[in-house]
Amino acid sequence: MAETHYDIIIVGAGPAGISTALHLAQIIPGIEKRTLILEKAHHPRHKLCGGGLLPDGEIVLRQLGLDISEIAHVNAPFAHFDFAGQGLAMTANDGTGIAFRLIRRDEFDAWLVGKARASGFDIREGVTVKTVEASAQGCVISTDQGDFHAKAVIGADGSKGITRRLVNPREKPHSARVLELLAPPKPDSSLHVQQDAYFDFRPIVEGIGGYIWDFPTLVKGVATRCWGIYDANFTPGEASRSLMAALADEMKTHGYNLEDYKIEGHPIRWFEASGEFSVPGLILAGDAAGVDALFGEGIAPALGYGRISARAIKSAFEKNNFSFIDYKKRVLSSEMGKSLRLRTLTARIFFGIRNAPIQRFIWTKLGAPTTFYVQNFLVYWANRQK
Ligand SMILES: Cc1cc2nc3c(=O)[nH]c(=O)nc-3n(C[C@H](O)[C@H](O)[C@H](O)COP(=O)(O)OP(=O)(O)OC[C@H]3O[C@@H](n4cnc5c(N)ncnc54)[C@H](O)[C@@H]3O)c2cc1C
Repeated sequence: MAETHYDIIIVGAGPAGISTALHLAQIIPGIEKRTLILEKAHHPRHKLCGGGLLPDGEIVLRQLGLDISEIAHVNAPFAHFDFAGQGLAMTANDGTGIAFRLIRRDEFDAWLVGKARASGFDIREGVTVKTVEASAQGCVISTDQGDFHAKAVIGADGSKGITRRLVNPREKPHSARVLELLAPPKPDSSLHVQQDAYFDFRPIVEGIGGYIWDFPTLVKGVATRCWGIYDANFTPGEASRSLMAALADEMKTHGYNLEDYKIEGHPIRWFEASGEFSVPGLILAGDAAGVDALFGEGIAPALGYGRISARAIKSAFEKNNFSFIDYKKRVLSSEMGKSLRLRTLTARIFFGIRNAPIQRFIWTKLGAPTTFYVQNFLVYWANRQK
């Protein structure tokens, strides 16, 4: 008979789930034989995402002994933060000359899954978890292919997953609205540089709490642009224009007709310090727990959650106590948690400034303090982490 009892079950084989597994393998020898990872899709699977991998993500990968240069990616030398086409250009402060890298999520996630399998983890694809009954005495994970049992469960099943609802059954939704499409390289009429990444905050004045992005990317080796619009959606219903109309207008100024492209949408659940991150027997990681409200950056945080959740699991086994009572404190007191908390606060304030001249002033005149704030408080948390 197939094994159904494990020490640990991880729900979801995205960056949060796989990072948790790889961190576990670093700190609990032999744990891979007692862990099961359940994934409803089959890798390489489609995941709607701009693929912007910020330096923190790379730092966590390096700490796991992984080298991003093993997979195809684009290096964006500059990230432009603009209001209506004007603003500042940032690059990383680590001397690499790269602001951030752009990966494709089907390739990136499949690569991570390959690394976890090579470490000995059993990853079952095509298995959908239906419910989790969690308690400090043990958990029952019901799937479309039978029941499994574990001492501890990690809910890494993303923004639309089932585990976050278990932990926060009565929460008010705090999810960003995001649309994305892929388009060919820029027409000559575009003012954007082919290799650079662009964020334009013009939609804020229309009550959209976010920005329009235009990233370079490589789709199966072909140079492509990834366009999209992000709205943190702090005050649902307040936008005076639809996301689609705002994106269409911006793309038009670069010679694109939005109607020519396939547009997809997916929520991003952002970090809310007042929320819950665990119940006895179950802890959340990645989008299920909440990621960046300011930019919708979730890959690096998903990888960062892996370190925190793996340590919480190790401590639970050492104490034989699976209440996970201290998990929220672990998340909030981590450098990543501090950064995510600050990003939510910054987003609430910044997206509330709907006055065009003030927004233009911030991006065109306050370049130095803005760069300082971003680099010292919002990113590089993985370097600050002890
Ligand atoms: C349009 C868009 C653009 C984005 N762009 C960026 C970007 O440029 N940079 C960035 O850093 N972040 C970006 N993000 C955010 C980023 O994609 C997420 O934060 C990140 O994927 C979170 O990783 P995760 O592992 O928590 O969840 P996911 O990547 O969603 O992985 C969850 C996994 O769980 C599986 N699963 C779900 N339910 C079940 C179930 N019931 N049973 C079994 N398996 C299940 C899913 O199939 C999936 O494989 C973007 C998001 C969107 C929507």
